[in-house]
Amino acid sequence: MTAPVTAPLTDPLAPRPVDRALDPGFRHGQSTEPNYSGVTSFLRRRYAPDGGGAEVVVWGVPLDVTVSNRPGTRFGPRALRAASAILDGDPLYPFHADPFGPLDVADAGDGVFDYGLPAGIPAAIEAQAARHYARGAHLVTLGGDHFLTYPVLKALVARTRAPVALVQFDAHQDTWDDDGSRVDHGTMITRAVKDGLIRVERSVQVGIRTHAPNDFGIAIIDGYSAGEMGPRALAAAITERVGDAPAYVTFDIDALDPAFAPGTGTPVCGGLSSREALETLRRLGGLDLKGFDVVEVSPPYDHAEITALAGASLAACYLGILAGRKAAGERIAP
Ligand code: MN
Ligand code: MN
Repeated sequence: MTAPVTAPLTDPLAPRPVDRALDPGFRHGQSTEPNYSGVTSFLRRRYAPDGGGAEVVVWGVPLDVTVSNRPGTRFGPRALRAASAILDGDPLYPFHADPFGPLDVADAGDGVFDYGLPAGIPAAIEAQAARHYARGAHLVTLGGDHFLTYPVLKALVARTRAPVALVQFDAHQDTWDDDGSRVDHGTMITRAVKDGLIRVERSVQVGIRTHAPNDFGIAIIDGYSAGEMGPRALAAAITERVGDAPAYVTFDIDALDPAFAPGTGTPVCGGLSSREALETLRRLGGLDLKGFDVVEVSPPYDHAEITALAGASLAACYLGILAGRKAAGERIAP
């Protein structure tokens, strides 16, 4: 139940704080708009295509050209934003706090690329991510199919000059063979490894429930093992693996069991529950976090917004972690 910020509505024509996404001065606090109406930026943050000077920029990449099975991820960012509206207004569980007290977050809208020129899409995503990084923003990306992680990582590592430990939640390793030319959501980790973007000895893939020919030295905690460990031990194992390396978290929503994320392109049974995933992610606040994405949400295959709400909740959880770091005086910019 969201607490109303306004007095009881005795005059329906009186000015009210609605459509806060369009208010460039809306930097902190929650909007408490009705969940079901208004402009749906992510978590009601102000809409600012140039990032608006925010320290954290959420943006969408409605990519839907590299999937190997069911399509629909082009509708992912919009669905994630719509689902996020219900998370606005109350303190964020389990953080006991409004993340937007300490943290300034803007929604930069969606990346732009030409569906008719698919070969140019990776460079377009990379260039737009690089523009946000050049402004010093910490990027949270709403997908979109999983290929987008590759150009975003290219832009991040070009900015920081520091390859990252990859924490990949996924049913799939995405390490199929690639000579460096494929635009494919099943091979982009191969490209990222070959490009030197990932510190494989510090990286880990969690929830894997398929087999691929290569692991490149990346640790794997498969789906059944992750379930047996539980969130506390799972987060501890991830934290031990990553250590003090700069870390990037990519969350392919198919890491979740299809019961919790039916709306995705390549579902695999036997995955984590949304509770297990959220609780594991929440416990990763000790990592030197440099970025996050949630990908592969395909709304046409979703039911009752289950998948979109799970994805939005994971991104909100990540913002909760960043807010805690900000409140503790830690650096947010990558
Ligand atoms: Mn996957
Ligand atoms: Mn994937």
